[in-house]
This record gives sequence, structure tokens and C-alpha cells, in this order.
Amino acid sequence: MTNEVFRKTTREAHPDDTVIEAGGVRIGGGHFAMIAGPCSVETEDQIVSIARAVKKAGANILRGGAYKPRTSPYAFQGLHAKGLELLRIARRETGLPLVTEIMSAADLPLFEDIDILQVGARNMQNFDLLKELGRSGKPVLLKRGLANTLNELLMSAEYIMANGNDRVILCERGIRTFSDTLRNTLDLSAVPMLREMTHLPVIVDPSHATGLARIVPPMALAAVAAGADGLMIEVHNDPEHALTDGAESIRPEEYEALAEKVEKLREALR
Ligand code: PEP
Ligand code: MN
Repeated sequence: MTNEVFRKTTREAHPDDTVIEAGGVRIGGGHFAMIAGPCSVETEDQIVSIARAVKKAGANILRGGAYKPRTSPYAFQGLHAKGLELLRIARRETGLPLVTEIMSAADLPLFEDIDILQVGARNMQNFDLLKELGRSGKPVLLKRGLANTLNELLMSAEYIMANGNDRVILCERGIRTFSDTLRNTLDLSAVPMLREMTHLPVIVDPSHATGLARIVPPMALAAVAAGADGLMIEVHNDPEHALTDGAESIRPEEYEALAEKVEKLREALR
């Protein structure tokens, strides 16, 4: 049975959890994604050393932005094609598959061998981009917009799926509320709610959701308890000098301690 409005994302359309395979890693249906890495790719040394450290700690996917959607046009915009090149080097060195943000469909040829294409919060309703990513058939990590509902998030997933691509991972990354203590408000109830609404994997990004490194580990654990299929966490070897999002980036040793707790918590919840 298909829903008139939501045709592909619902449990009616696909009762079982969807498991997405990307670069040899599975996500969903009990397969947990530990995505970690810097906000932005900065140098070869930086990305390779962080990749090695997070892999050792238990990460199974490397993140790093090469195309950065910045609020200010004067802020660092990312290394673009050079950043993708450095990500490939880190993948070669560690074997970790890559997730990195694509901002424009025109850049798709450059992302040919990227394992997972990220659609950032600000592009969640860039419908032309979503359609092209649907046609690309590549795994997509779709982040919830800053001020978007869960129905709107699922409609954006429908755009990708309606264009022939079932490989969509959803990501809760915090939303705008009246609360101004932290960067955003992590809507953790979205996780069990989406679990009911859709068969697609749901991961949580506590880094952008909080904007503050010391708040990231407890919220990561809360996300695991809420039933997330994975975590995306910003890790930097020198957060004070990070070109972007240093305040929310945890250090490799903090990531290692967190990964250990995540493992224990998942064990306890089994
Ligand atoms: C990111 O993950 O690098 C990012 C820019 O996040 P968001 O789109 O959630 O702000
Ligand atoms: Mn960031």
C-alpha cells in the first residue's frame, strides 16, 4: 500500500528498515554509522592525521567539508576540488569511505568517486539538487533544515527517491528554537518519530546541533539511547585553530573515549 502524499519513504511502502551500503559500510537495520572528521578539510596532514585517529577510535566513515555553505561570503569557503583530492588521500591511507557536502549539481562530476554525498541543512529544499542526486543513484546523507519539519524532511527524501535513488540517510542536526544558549536545539524526539514514519536510516549530528564541544558527547549518547542509526561528529586535532567550527569540534582522544561509551551503551541496549 502506498500513501498518496508520501510514496517511497513510509513504512507502508517498505516495512523493513532500509540498510544502505556505501563504500563497503552498512548503515541502518542495526548497522551503526560512526562518521567522524573535521568540519572542513584544511591540509593533507590535518585530514590524514584526523582520519587515522578516528579510525583507530572506531569510526567507520570519514567526514570533511570541501564545499562549505558559510553564512558570510567573506568566511573560508572550503578547498573545493583540492579538498576532495585530500579526502581521497585520507581514504587511501585509512580505507575509510568518505562523506562530503555537495552544494551544486554542477559539481557532480567532481564527486564521481565520493562514497556518500551530503546535502547540508541549508540545501534540504534545493529541489533541483535533490532531483539530480536522485538521478545520480549515489548514497545521500540528507540533513534536516534549520527550520524544517519532519514531514518536509521526508518530502525532500521523496524528491531523491522519486528520481530513482533509494539510498537516502536522514540526519537530525538541530533546529532553530527560541533557545539561544547553544547554536541549535537538538530535536532528539525526531529519532523515534522518524523511526515510525520511515524505513530510512536516521543518524544524529550533535556537533552542529549544539555548537559546543563539551556538550557533544552527552548528546551523542542521548542520540544512541533514542535509537539513532549512527552519529556524525566533528573531530579536529587542533580545534583552537580550526578554520571552521572549532568550538564544536572534539579532539581525537575525546572521540576515542566517546566511541567506547557508545559501544558500551549500544551493548547495554541490545
Ligand atoms: C556540515 O556538516 O559540514 C554542515 C555544514 O552542517 P549543516 O548543514 O547541518 O549545518
Ligand atoms: Mn561544521
